[in-house]
Amino acid sequence: MSFPTDLEIAQSADIKHIREIADKIGIDREDLEYYGKYKAKIPLKYINEENIKKSKLILVSAINPTPAGEGKTTVSVGLCDGLNKIGKKAIAVLREPSLGPVFGIKGGAAGGGYAQVIPMVDINLHFTGDFSAVEKANNLLSALIDNNLQDKKRSLNIDPRTIVWKRVMDMNDRSLRHIVVGLGGSNNGITREEGFNITPASEVMAILCLSKDFEDLKNRLGNIFVGYTFDKKPIYARDLNAEGAMAILLKDAIRPNLVQTLEGNPAILHGGPFANIAQGTNTIIATKMGLSLADFVVTEAGFGADLGAEKFMHIKGYYGNLKPDAYVLVATIRALRYHGGAKKGEYEKPNLAAVEKGIENLKKHIENGFKWQLKPIVAINHFATDSEEEINFVKSECEKLGVKAILADEFTMGGEGMKALAEEVASCAFNCGNNFKPLYSVEDSVEHKIETIAKEVYGADSAVFSQKAKNQLKSIYELGLDKLPICMAKTQKSLTDDEKKIGRPTGFKVTVREFEFAAGAGFIIPILGDMMRMPGLPSIPAAEGMNIDKDGVITGLS
Ligand code: ADP
Ligand code: MG
Repeated sequence: MSFPTDLEIAQSADIKHIREIADKIGIDREDLEYYGKYKAKIPLKYINEENIKKSKLILVSAINPTPAGEGKTTVSVGLCDGLNKIGKKAIAVLREPSLGPVFGIKGGAAGGGYAQVIPMVDINLHFTGDFSAVEKANNLLSALIDNNLQDKKRSLNIDPRTIVWKRVMDMNDRSLRHIVVGLGGSNNGITREEGFNITPASEVMAILCLSKDFEDLKNRLGNIFVGYTFDKKPIYARDLNAEGAMAILLKDAIRPNLVQTLEGNPAILHGGPFANIAQGTNTIIATKMGLSLADFVVTEAGFGADLGAEKFMHIKGYYGNLKPDAYVLVATIRALRYHGGAKKGEYEKPNLAAVEKGIENLKKHIENGFKWQLKPIVAINHFATDSEEEINFVKSECEKLGVKAILADEFTMGGEGMKALAEEVASCAFNCGNNFKPLYSVEDSVEHKIETIAKEVYGADSAVFSQKAKNQLKSIYELGLDKLPICMAKTQKSLTDDEKKIGRPTGFKVTVREFEFAAGAGFIIPILGDMMRMPGLPSIPAAEGMNIDKDGVITGLS
């Protein structure tokens, strides 16, 4: 019999009522806001600063991934189950999936195999409506902008050609990237170029994920930069009196969502910003909620550690006053083969020679951990195609660097296959002396901050700036936004800004082609390659393989 699909495993799970999960972490059943039987929102009053200080934060990131993903979410869920198996009180705190990847190529983001969060179908579809709320808040601002262009009496004199704010929708739909709005004559708005981004690429999503409370949320929403007037004055969302109403639309979305793992352990899923043009981690509120309710929180930083972990520390850590107590680097043998030059179609075949070369990518990420004053623990996410000798090689190379590499068998065994990793992580959280130190200060110049990330984290010789980027940098300084942290936008597939450069490249430069900034969320975005804010569907979209039968049973979701 073949191994069941993620969906089959999730559908046959013995799912508990969510109030039973709440009981485990001391939430009064009366305090939960129920979304059916298996999902609930947790009120913010459960955030407890004293508990947060005592609890341990475990950050899960990865080597540079292949397009399939190397299993950070799966390992995070499995590690939460593993910690509970060895008697620790642990919660997984993760992002919510976006519909774009669900119907496109990658599929859902609720883990895999026997390490999943459930109800899997709900989580991957509309869940508790947070993405819709973000979309509506975003589009309310768009409507207010277009209304102001139309209204001559209360006009802010906005130059429509300078408006950078776009509408959003949670779907991969490339034909909406560039559109024209306001057609149809004088009653129907001012004609201008517009475009749609996907909801997780919205600055509102980034803001929701970095806000500490409603006041902070409103303040950040008000600071969203919209564009310039005809006489070159900057316009922010607050100039349109937008932040109050936008925050109202997020009144429920600001509260974290409680669900469970396949093994009935608590998981909080909240927020879902992209990891390229945004910070790629769940909300600060959810992470703090997890730390308030359990002794260990397992959380994931999107993409590879050069993007995800770096942003976790310098952006989310900075705004949320959060530091990891343990740092897990997920590696797969197949990705190491890829980094060692194995050809397409051969990633699944044992190839020690390729792993021997590809290990350099893992080594760089391990070294970066030490630069951040975090001792990494390598989790080898175990695939059926891994050979014994490849695994042993990775373990012994890690040992030479003073680091443990432990086999993670969450996919086939759930928490039972994660006990060894859980023991190591639990012990390291207390004993490894981890004490994250930022690589740069926000007070540094923008150029210096970028150079530091490029050299220290990517291993580049330098960062160069295009003429366009230099011009845009002037505006950033003029607007007084230069003291913000940096949110690098680059490919996740390589340590460089060229996705074809595998392994651990040296002797390269990275080029900042242009800048964007998120004045509300609070970061500067140097763009190092082509950035996708509205992905397209592949030629065979996952959507085509999905169905629901007469009894409402769903198939084809992955
Ligand atoms: P990431 O969070 O790093 O993007 P995911 O955890 O979402 O990756 O995993 C990507 C895909 O790989 C999922 O479909 C998951 O089911 C699958 N997967 C993860 N780990 C394993 C494994 N050990 N064996 C087989 N498939 C796996
Ligand atoms: Mg993931």
